[in-house]
Amino acid sequence: MDIDALQTPLYVMEEAKLEKNLQLLDYVQQESGAKILLALKGFAFSGGMKMVSKYLHGCCASGLHEARYATEKVGREVHTYAPAFKEEEIDEIIALSHHLVFNSFAQWQKFKPKALGKVSCGLRVNPEVSASPTDMYNPCASFSRLGITEKAFHEALLEGIEGLHFHALCEQGADALEMVLAGFEEKFGDYIHLMKWVNFGGGHHITKEGYDVAKLIKLIRDFKTKYGVDVYLEPGEAVGWQTGFLVATVLDIVHNEIDIAILDTSAEAHMPDTILMPYRAEVRGAGKAGEKPYTYRLAGNTCLAGDVMGDYAFDRPLEIGEKIIFEDQIHYTIVKNSTFNGIKLPDLALLKKDGTIEIIREFGYEAYERRN
Ligand SMILES: *Cc1c(COP(=O)(O)O)cnc(C)c1O
Repeated sequence: MDIDALQTPLYVMEEAKLEKNLQLLDYVQQESGAKILLALKGFAFSGGMKMVSKYLHGCCASGLHEARYATEKVGREVHTYAPAFKEEEIDEIIALSHHLVFNSFAQWQKFKPKALGKVSCGLRVNPEVSASPTDMYNPCASFSRLGITEKAFHEALLEGIEGLHFHALCEQGADALEMVLAGFEEKFGDYIHLMKWVNFGGGHHITKEGYDVAKLIKLIRDFKTKYGVDVYLEPGEAVGWQTGFLVATVLDIVHNEIDIAILDTSAEAHMPDTILMPYRAEVRGAGKAGEKPYTYRLAGNTCLAGDVMGDYAFDRPLEIGEKIIFEDQIHYTIVKNSTFNGIKLPDLALLKKDGTIEIIREFGYEAYERRN
C-alpha cells in the first residue's frame, strides 16, 4: 500500500487485523459457550460487517438506527437496549430485534403489551460496582441513569422478563468482570434462576495484549453451570481494537515558542476520545515530546483552540505535504465523527487481506450541507 498516494483524511481498516480479533472472540465463544455480539456503538465500519457476521452471533444496538444497520449489514441476532424507547419507534424496533432490554420498570410496563411474545424481553440492572477509569465512561457512577438499581427493583413486575443485562466495564480485564459479577449476584442473584439469559454487557478488553482470556472463559463457564442460563457478551472496542489507522497530511507548520504542525484532520471531530477521555493516540514512527530530535505539536484544522492531538517527536523535520498516521483509530472514531467547523469527514477505506485497498465511502460538501 502506497500511503503517500492516498487522499486524506482517511481511515483505513485492516481486514486481517479485524479477523484476528474475531477469531479470538470466537475462541471465547467456543470454549465458554457464551454468545458474543458486536456493540455497534463502538464500531460500525460497513466494510467489516460481513466478517463480523461470520464469527459473532450478531449485534447489540442502542436504538432504531443501529438495530436497522445490524439487520442490514450483519444479520443474525439483534439485541436492542436504549436508556428510553420512543412510542413512534418501538414497533419497528420490535420487528427488527430478537432481544429488547428495558432501562426501567416504567418502560417495561409501557411497552410490555407490544413486545410480549414478539421479542425476548430483559431489564438492564445497575450492579453499582465498577472500576471504570473515568466517570464519563462509568455507568455505575453516582446518579447514573443507566440500569435499574437494587432499590428501584420490583420483583412483582418480573412476569414476562426473560433476561437481565448489566454493563459496567470500560476497557477492563477479567478481574474487573469478576468483581462486577460478584456485585451483580449479590444484588440480583435471587432473580437469575427465573431468567433464560444474562447479558454481561461490553467493556471486556479481550483482544488487548495481556487480557486474561482463560479467566474470562472460567467465569462464564462457572456462571452458566451455576444458573443454567445463556450468557451474552457485547464488546465494541474489543472488536475494533487496533484494526487500523487514520491518515492525515501536514498542511502547514507554524511557530509560536514551539513548532506546531497543522493537519487536515481534527482531534475534536475525528479523534474525539483523545479530548474526551482523554488519551494520547500513537503516531507511527514518532515518540513522546523530546524523545527524538524534532518535536512538534500536532493540531487540527479547525478554529477550536483546543483541537490538539498532542506533542510528538520525530527523527527528522516534518515537511509540508507529509503524511501522519495515527494508530488504532477505528473504534469510537468513525461512529462519533462530526462535520464541526465544516471540516471534511475522513473517507473510509478497507485494506484487504490480499493487500489491495478499497475506498468504501467518500465524503464531501453534501455531508456537511445535509446536517446544517
Ligand atoms: C458501550 C456499550 C457496550 C460496548 O462497550 P465497549 O466498551 O465498546 O466494549 C456494550 N453494551 C452497552 C449497553 C454499552 O453501552
